[in-house]
Amino acid sequence: MPPNSPAAPDPPSPSAERARTPLGSALLRSIPGGYDITGLPLQVPPLPAESAPSWLRRLADRYTLTPQQILRVLGDEGRPTTLAALHAHIERNAAGITQHLRIPEDDLENLCCAPALDTLTAGYLQLYHHRAWQPSPASRYCPECLTQEPTAWAAAWRNPYTVICPTHAAILHDLCPSCGQRPFATMSWLGQVAEPWICPSRRPAPRGRFGRPKRGVRPFCGHDLRTVTRQPATDDRRPDPGPTL
Ligand SMILES: [Zn+2]
Ligand SMILES: [Zn+2]
Repeated sequence: MPPNSPAAPDPPSPSAERARTPLGSALLRSIPGGYDITGLPLQVPPLPAESAPSWLRRLADRYTLTPQQILRVLGDEGRPTTLAALHAHIERNAAGITQHLRIPEDDLENLCCAPALDTLTAGYLQLYHHRAWQPSPASRYCPECLTQEPTAWAAAWRNPYTVICPTHAAILHDLCPSCGQRPFATMSWLGQVAEPWICPSRRPAPRGRFGRPKRGVRPFCGHDLRTVTRQPATDDRRPDPGPTL
């Protein structure tokens, strides 16, 4: 009589399987019977010329999550602290993102590419002024563009030479009129649950005694940037030069 073969190990429980599954892997959730969830149900593809923060906010808004929570579902645990770090995060986790969202990898690459005007600006400043230049993460905006569906922020709005919206013949706004800050100047929007047209900044820190800013978590501004007064771009109205390069 042949010896008993060693007992096969018990299959791992779904919870144990999920606990071992790293965030951003191909498996979002294990379900017995071959019904594993490998993709997110709501697809939000990037739009042409859209910035990476804009796409991430639209995606997070569909799931009523913060952009940081979406990044954790789609990738690793890192929290980007700069725009360049966000681009690196997306590129690093591109395989998982494309699988979960079923969007072409080329679309993700375009999200993280510098707009043509940024490349030209950097080349011009290097050639004629011998200085390296990086675009600011802060973005101008066109209130009328923000009323469109789907609502997207153009990557070109970050360039200091982009001062007009050609679609609406309007001067782009530089600041939120409620909090007085430039949208996307910091990465605090990663912790915000908000529609894409809501100001992504936190309110400025209140001043305490001696004029020093008080410590503590500041609330988000929450201003609806679609309601900002339109500034028509006419021949007799030149836009402000904006911040220095
Ligand atoms: Zn516009
Ligand atoms: Zn604001």
